[in-house]
Amino acid sequence: MEAQKSATFRSLSENVGQFNLRDKTLLIPEMNRIGAHLIAGAFRGFGTNALVMDTYKGLELGKEFTSGKECFPCQVTTGDILLYLKNEKERLGDDFNPENYVFFMPEAEGPCRFGMYNKYQRIVLDSFPELRKVKIGSLTSQDSYALDGMIDKNRARDFRKTAYFSVVIGDILDRLLWRIRPYEREEGATDDFIEQSMITMANSFESYGATRDFDRILDRLEEMIEEGKALVDPDIPPKPLIGIVGEIYLRSHVHSNQNVIKMLERYGAEVVNASIAEWVDYTTYDRVREAKTSLRLNLKQFRLDGVKSGLKKLLNRGGDMLYQRILLDRAYKRMKPLLDLAVDHGMTHMEKILTRDDLYSFELGTEACLSIAGIMEYMQEGYNGVVNVYPFTCMPSTITSSIMRPIMNRNKIPYLDAAYDGTYQPGREAAIRTFMYQANQHFKRNGRKKHS
Ligand code: SF4
Repeated sequence: MEAQKSATFRSLSENVGQFNLRDKTLLIPEMNRIGAHLIAGAFRGFGTNALVMDTYKGLELGKEFTSGKECFPCQVTTGDILLYLKNEKERLGDDFNPENYVFFMPEAEGPCRFGMYNKYQRIVLDSFPELRKVKIGSLTSQDSYALDGMIDKNRARDFRKTAYFSVVIGDILDRLLWRIRPYEREEGATDDFIEQSMITMANSFESYGATRDFDRILDRLEEMIEEGKALVDPDIPPKPLIGIVGEIYLRSHVHSNQNVIKMLERYGAEVVNASIAEWVDYTTYDRVREAKTSLRLNLKQFRLDGVKSGLKKLLNRGGDMLYQRILLDRAYKRMKPLLDLAVDHGMTHMEKILTRDDLYSFELGTEACLSIAGIMEYMQEGYNGVVNVYPFTCMPSTITSSIMRPIMNRNKIPYLDAAYDGTYQPGREAAIRTFMYQANQHFKRNGRKKHS
């Protein structure tokens, strides 16, 4: 019993981390569908055999090997990996070699539980003797998801840029979907078109990502936007504009959120979800803040070595932040003249909103920083309602709800908390229908603004 325990603890450090991906198959769980496929394309462009696993089909397995106390995304992704490996084992029989696979599961530093998913999943994989050698490849928000050790050192920085760009392009394709689907001439045409566009774009990242030929990728994206615009029926009048915030996995994973965007659209909404790039920007920004604090402290205490290393960190992280912003602006600047798409706000702006209204602090961290500032922005921009989408019991989203619900009530802007745990709540659709009725009333009284 003791020996088993120590083997498990050793496994947490030996089999979770940043492993070289050469000659391995990288298994990427699907969070938002487009982003996952684009990043897989980017990995393939850099020579890693990456694939996106089927999702949600293994939920029963996920529930069987969790206790129910974990956050819902942990249950879903545990099911995804177990089902994939089970099928792979059946397919390959004796040729199945667990050492060929790396399961991709990033993490974030506390204070909530995202840092624990991969540890828990390690324990689950270790409970199957034949899966003990499947590694878990983990990136951490602590170093802004740097890829040290996973990609060859001389290419890691290039890959990080391409990966970030794939996240931005994934966001734009998602925004194209939400922008045109409520106004489509033919039902289902937008979904088919976006699915096809996603495959084309993943191939573009595979072909041009490694050489960072981003202009070619943007040329293709421009063509897609033009093709997408042709699906719109210009006679359909503008609809109430609804903003979504919340926990990144749940608000992006259509199976887990029971396709909340489509349901809102069914009741007359046009929806904008918070982006994925926003989270990456936030982690980078947080590292910059951290570096500034440590530099200040070292300066105060006249620690020369500390000042030197602090300065270096600040320059590196500040450089990452700046480069990310340049890439993001470059993509949106090309797309904005073609179609009125929502644009991400800079982190400095988000922090200012929180400080200005004394609502929350970046010092406390978590996605609550983004969700609270995001709702304030939606309010200011004239959205007709906001939905906060999150896993049942999610800490940052519960904080968001407790702070923002009274403010939304005071400002008479429709607001809905939508918590999910995999069960179907009989009242959910009625709640969304009522929310959309209120949003329509708001729209009639106040109109709506274009995306800024
Ligand atoms: S953000 Fe919410 S769902 Fe995600 S780990 Fe933290 S508490 Fe769990």
